[in-house]
Amino acid sequence: MAILNIVKFGDDLLRKRCRPIDEITPKIKTLIDDMIDTMRKADGCGLAAPQVGILRRLAVIEAEEGVVHVLINPEIVKREGEEEEVEGCLSNPGKWGYVKRPAKVTLRALDRDGVPYEIEAEGLLCRAICHECDHLDGKLYTDFQTKPYIPD
Ligand code: ZN
Repeated sequence: MAILNIVKFGDDLLRKRCRPIDEITPKIKTLIDDMIDTMRKADGCGLAAPQVGILRRLAVIEAEEGVVHVLINPEIVKREGEEEEVEGCLSNPGKWGYVKRPAKVTLRALDRDGVPYEIEAEGLLCRAICHECDHLDGKLYTDFQTKPYIPD
C-alpha cells in the first residue's frame, strides 16, 4: 500500500484520453489499492488513474463511507434528468464550482476482478461517476462549471 502523488490542474496528464485496461494484472490491482488509500488520505470521494499519472481507464469512488466502487473501462450507458450541485476535485484543492450533471445515470464497468457489472446511481454517486469518467477523457469539472462556489 502506498499513498500516490496527485497531479494538479495545469498538468498535461489531466488532458489526455486514457487507454482501456485489457488485462487486470497484479500491478493493476496494486494500483487500485493504492488509489483507494490515496483517495481516503486526501479525504476525497473519487480518484481517476490519470490523477496519479496513469493514463488508463480506471477510477475508484467512495461516495458513501465504506462502499468503494472500482470502475475499470467504465461507460455511462444512460443519462436521465439534470441536477446542478457543487463539485470539487482532488487535483484542484480548496476550490469548488457549480456543475450541471445528469440526475441519474446507468454505469457499466468491470470490477477489480474483471467481472462486468451495471449500476444505477443518483445523488453524489451519480455526480462522482460523471466526474471520474470525464477524467478518463481528459475533461475537468471546470470545463462545465457554471459559477464558482465560495464557501462562507
Ligand atoms: Zn477530479
